[in-house]
Amino acid sequence: MTNLVWFRNDLRIFDNPALSKAMATGNCIAVYYITDEQWDNHGLSKLKRQLIMEHLRQLESSLSRLHVPFIIFDGQSFATSAEMLINTCIEWKVSDVFFNHEYGCNELKLTHTVEAGLTKHNINLHGFHEQCIIEPGSITNGQGECYKVFGAFKKKWHSLFAQQARPIFSKPKAQALVPSKSNIAPVKSDLTCLKNYQIAIPLKALWLFSEIEAHEHLSDFVETQVEQYHLERDIPSLDSTSQLSTLLALGVVTTRQCLQAVINSDQSSKSEALGAYSIETLNEGALCWVNELVWREFYRHILVSYPRISKGRAFKVETENLPWLVKSPSFDDWCNGLTGIPIIDAAMRQLNETGWMHNRLRMVVAMFLTKHLHIDWRLGERYFYSKLCDADLASNNGGWQWSASTGVDAAPYFRIFNPYRQAERFDPNGDYVRKYVKELASIEGKAIHKPSETLAKHLNYPTVIVDLKVAADSTKSYFKNLKRQ
Ligand SMILES: Cc1cc2nc3c(=O)[nH]c(=O)nc-3n(C[C@H](O)[C@H](O)[C@H](O)COP(=O)(O)OP(=O)(O)OC[C@H]3O[C@@H](n4cnc5c(N)ncnc54)[C@H](O)[C@@H]3O)c2cc1C
Repeated sequence: MTNLVWFRNDLRIFDNPALSKAMATGNCIAVYYITDEQWDNHGLSKLKRQLIMEHLRQLESSLSRLHVPFIIFDGQSFATSAEMLINTCIEWKVSDVFFNHEYGCNELKLTHTVEAGLTKHNINLHGFHEQCIIEPGSITNGQGECYKVFGAFKKKWHSLFAQQARPIFSKPKAQALVPSKSNIAPVKSDLTCLKNYQIAIPLKALWLFSEIEAHEHLSDFVETQVEQYHLERDIPSLDSTSQLSTLLALGVVTTRQCLQAVINSDQSSKSEALGAYSIETLNEGALCWVNELVWREFYRHILVSYPRISKGRAFKVETENLPWLVKSPSFDDWCNGLTGIPIIDAAMRQLNETGWMHNRLRMVVAMFLTKHLHIDWRLGERYFYSKLCDADLASNNGGWQWSASTGVDAAPYFRIFNPYRQAERFDPNGDYVRKYVKELASIEGKAIHKPSETLAKHLNYPTVIVDLKVAADSTKSYFKNLKRQ
């Protein structure tokens, strides 16, 4: 009998519980289902799809060194891929299927369909929760519910970390025998489904890193940059954040590995295992970075506890009565980086050109769309998802709802970032704006952030599309009215 590893968002061989457990208990084959129809429904970016294909190629070469044949199927939709998976198991006499859990509602439905189908044929299914250091559902308040505020969640996460963080799985040992379908010929890897996917946009080398290269990048970041992280992380012109979000979103690296790397870099820790270490002793920069990983976990815990957010619903249900605009010409200006506000335009152009945007600017452009243009946060969320190379349901939804004050933000709705002030604070010399808004590049220093109307016209740059003060006042009154209702 054969074990089958069903790869999903976990394109790695290190710290992969499904792969390690499957290889520890029998001979393995591995499969992946490309689901373009489903991805179209979700609006997944072309960039992330291309990255998936590139990392599937790398995964195949890593698996081949473990003698695990890897077959990639054109699964089309989740429904079709569930059927295909069950048929594969029957055809190849698979006894046990191993996979790592996914938390979106369609992904959960897929898992249930597969489980029901396999049970009918007496095939065992083994699922592992590996996306979070502490499993979703296990960090709860006195009422047994998920925390709704990050500060309280983080405190509890820190207190549970030592007991609950499991050690990292190392790379499995190569298996001796390659399983065969018919007892005559061994199963061979098959990547023919990938032939239609070509890289169309130039991609940052970092996003294509193999697992080994990703770990080298991670070590380098924690050795040389993390100590300054709390001081520099908000300055978009500096490459001062890890830029690991894409590799985390593809499952090429895990947050456990990130945390272990930070612990290993702490001279006093003597490379202790995750659970044996007190993260409170980390330096300020490292602790600040670890807390960003905890934000990632928080949004996953929220997704699991409040599945409505993956169906386009607001976390704060009452905010669905706000008069969001769903059609507005300003949306196109925002998407295309033509709002007349340089920091917003630079950020949107970076997103469109590279598939990535700095966290500070994600917050600034999201707040601008929702609280100055009054456009429905769901449109912004979908646009980001269609462009980001690190597109991730939980973090993207969390970030959008946080910015629109429909989500878990502890601060009140009247926190509205003024994009000009944000620009002066976080891009003091205008270096970031100068890089992406080429028409304004000749303006020196911080004057680039607010060119006069005459200068803007002269440089062929659009005039500002909204009166920020009037727009922010309207937002405050919309939220105030909601409270009265
Ligand atoms: C509106 C909006 C949309 C977002 N959409 C996504 C998305 O689709 N995918 C995604 O991975 N992140 C998203 N984020 C979170 C954050 O912007 C990115 O994770 C971060 O910019 C990635 O850069 P980095 O890897 O250099 O992060 P670092 O600063 O080095 O942080 C390390 C890791 O921590 C996690 N992290 C950092 N900040 C956050 C945060 N605010 N929320 C959740 N996790 C965080 C990421 O996994 C990141 O790689 C969004 C934030 C906002 C405000």
